[in-house]
Amino acid sequence: MHDPVEGGTVTVSDRIAAVETVVAAGAELGEGPIWDARSGRIAWVDILGRRIHLTDSVTGATESIETPLQVGAIAPRAKGGFVAALQDGFWVMGDGPARRIATVPEARPGLRFNDGKCDPAGRFWAGTMAYDQAAGAAALYRLDAEGRPTRVIDGVTISNGLDWSIDGTAMYYIDSPLHRIDVFDFEPATGEIANRRIAIQIPRETGTPDGLTIDADGGIWVALWGGGAVHRYLDGRLDQVIKLPVSKPTSCAFGGAELDELYVTSASQGLSDTDRRAQPLAGALFRIRTGIRGLPARSYIGV
Ligand code: CA
Repeated sequence: MHDPVEGGTVTVSDRIAAVETVVAAGAELGEGPIWDARSGRIAWVDILGRRIHLTDSVTGATESIETPLQVGAIAPRAKGGFVAALQDGFWVMGDGPARRIATVPEARPGLRFNDGKCDPAGRFWAGTMAYDQAAGAAALYRLDAEGRPTRVIDGVTISNGLDWSIDGTAMYYIDSPLHRIDVFDFEPATGEIANRRIAIQIPRETGTPDGLTIDADGGIWVALWGGGAVHRYLDGRLDQVIKLPVSKPTSCAFGGAELDELYVTSASQGLSDTDRRAQPLAGALFRIRTGIRGLPARSYIGV
């Protein structure tokens, strides 16, 4: 599983162990893993299955919360439960009855929220996509502490992975069909972004960039939908390749008590019967003990 690819630019660490299956039960579209340090669980979502899953990192025991609409992304909420980007906007889940914080004016059938994460100041960001993947129909939003959403990037097609640099002055972002990871200057005090440029170009044959996370050394880990792998980029170069037993990994996040376990979600959506027989673990949650540490997940500070 550690074959170098792409012209020998890969140095694969001996520290990376085998891919473990944590939850085999196949999600249709498993997504958005995030470490919930409060409970020692990985929280993840099944977007189309309308579930938030809370999986114990030691036992694999999973508690599931149904969501009233498709759930794109979640983050721990400092005041309890989770903030969630559902199909129509932002909600609080898992802290009493589900309640909506805000709808976005652009919400409509045919459009739903997708990946999201909190910034270094505790604002929650999440983007959208059209079910038909219409070009430029989506956007990226920022939810402030008072629960007000602001549309920050227009003309997005499939808003996907995002994370911030360790010093909090840069935001990485993926609009999947562009086949690249972009980076913006980020102003933590205001949440403003500027100066968009390309950080990493992802070759089409490698797969489509989906979710991403930044580790404690500044490495960028990105799940490659259709590529069956997670890549780590360091200083702009491909540094690690983790091959998975499924073709559609969707996102990744560090967890575990030492934050050195990489959790990877995956999808069974769109697989043919033949694909499904070849990939019985499609939709599973995986773990890789990387020997590299991640950063603590950030919580939403608001509402
Ligand atoms: Ca995604």
